[in-house]
Amino acid sequence: MAITRFAPSPTGYLHIGGARTALFDLIWAKNTGGKYLLRIEDTDQSRNSPTAPKQVMDDLKWLGIVWDEGPEKEGAVGPYFQSQRLHIYKEYIQKLLDMGKAYYCFDTAEELEAMRKEAANSKKNFIYPRPKVFPTLADVENAKSQGKDVVVRFCMPEDEIIVEDIVRGQVHFNAKEISDFIILKSDGFPTYHLACVVDDELMGITHVIRGQEHLMNTPGHVAMQKAFGFKTPVYAHLSVIISEGGGKMSKREQGKVLKAAIKKAQGLEKEKLAEIGKISVAELNDFLAGDSMPDTPSIDAMAAYLKVELPEINIIDFVKSGFLPETLVNFIALLGYSAPLDKEILTLQEIIDSFDPTRFNKTNCLFDRKKLLAFNTEHIKMLSEEQLLARYKDYLKVVNSPALKADDSLLKRVLKASHGARTLAEVDHKSRFLFVEADKIEYDQKDVEKVLLKNGEGLAMLALLKERLTSLSSITEESIENLLRGIAEEKQIGLGKVAQPLRVAICGTTISLPIFESIDMLGIECTIRRMERAINKFSN
Ligand code: GLU
Repeated sequence: MAITRFAPSPTGYLHIGGARTALFDLIWAKNTGGKYLLRIEDTDQSRNSPTAPKQVMDDLKWLGIVWDEGPEKEGAVGPYFQSQRLHIYKEYIQKLLDMGKAYYCFDTAEELEAMRKEAANSKKNFIYPRPKVFPTLADVENAKSQGKDVVVRFCMPEDEIIVEDIVRGQVHFNAKEISDFIILKSDGFPTYHLACVVDDELMGITHVIRGQEHLMNTPGHVAMQKAFGFKTPVYAHLSVIISEGGGKMSKREQGKVLKAAIKKAQGLEKEKLAEIGKISVAELNDFLAGDSMPDTPSIDAMAAYLKVELPEINIIDFVKSGFLPETLVNFIALLGYSAPLDKEILTLQEIIDSFDPTRFNKTNCLFDRKKLLAFNTEHIKMLSEEQLLARYKDYLKVVNSPALKADDSLLKRVLKASHGARTLAEVDHKSRFLFVEADKIEYDQKDVEKVLLKNGEGLAMLALLKERLTSLSSITEESIENLLRGIAEEKQIGLGKVAQPLRVAICGTTISLPIFESIDMLGIECTIRRMERAINKFSN
């Protein structure tokens, strides 16, 4: 039976890597009839964001990753925010000090920097020089009175440390090459390392699943567990997720795309853009020079202003792009893991039931966006009409779509007409024309040129269609179809030559729902008014 925990540091939104860890925590626990805890690791005062815990929890809930114990679900081993457990860490740090397995240090930043430089110059790893005699409490008081920072370091043992990892097998670490690391910071907070080890023990965690970037931390954790006499949990360090660009999937990718768009934009006022992103012009310049990265809301606001689509990284990005939670769960469960099933489109329950911890892959895994779209198309098809409607309405709320005002029966029709859509965003975009006023339609300049203006044929077709539609006695999807097909036959042209001008006139673009149904849903009067507007607008 596995007791697992997802332990995010609340520094921002939940990203795809974090979501995968959280998912395997859930899968492992549920597959073994165990328990899944959520613990917020908020001991880094400089990096914490006050809104992050809620964002992370909202994203987990959206994905359907429900924890058994944690914030909002108090259990026996809480509190689940590390910032509320400082008294516990203090006690455990004292134990190490008493055992002589940790010691106080008072180095200044400059002194540490000099030691690091020296190590770098002689091409060695920085190993903190452990004093022969540990400072006493009197020394601590003395250092404090001189205004020095006081920290506590853990004594790394000298013997080899072997980490048994489910994904990578045995990993050997030469402990001599690992420096005594800080466990209590000068602000009185423990470091992640100490808090994590203490909490994993006190919370009864049996399986630690986390990203590969933590593998280097694990020998230190194992050494501390030994020092305390704790049990070592089973470790699984999941492989790195690589984006199609080749690098590790991270926010930086979004930065790259945005930077390119800013550089390409003509006549762009930096002051205006900085204001939109709620940053200073200096910060914007730093970002453009590659020195820094604004936070997610800034990046998103600037991208929206420039109308550039950023590659999705955080869960909320995928929500806004119209992916289903079922899709993401299915997709991220297959990042660095292959399920022992002969199909890839899987429900969470199927993944849980078939879970086999020997099937993690060591090698980096590619985040294949085309595959993700294909998965989403399939999962959309798998939902019942009512389920899809519910998901779609949730989506419309997130993006504040004008389609929110539509009633359920119209939305169901839209969804039906969008069969085969890859995302809910696609459904929304293709059907927005139904829910915006005629004067708010944004005409795609290229489509207007190509379909309406070229040789004047499109506009002439519109005029003819308007006349025929006006005199059509019964308006049904069928009669509209017959009319359009009749004209195509009469003129000996393809249906596209008839339908596309109409499409551009009522939707503003050539990409929309099937045309006959579009007209029927929009209503004939509205259709004719839009045709008139388009004829007037583009005739000059
Ligand atoms: N707080 C750590 C992080 O967000 C968790 C690492 C762990 O699971 O031990 O990366």
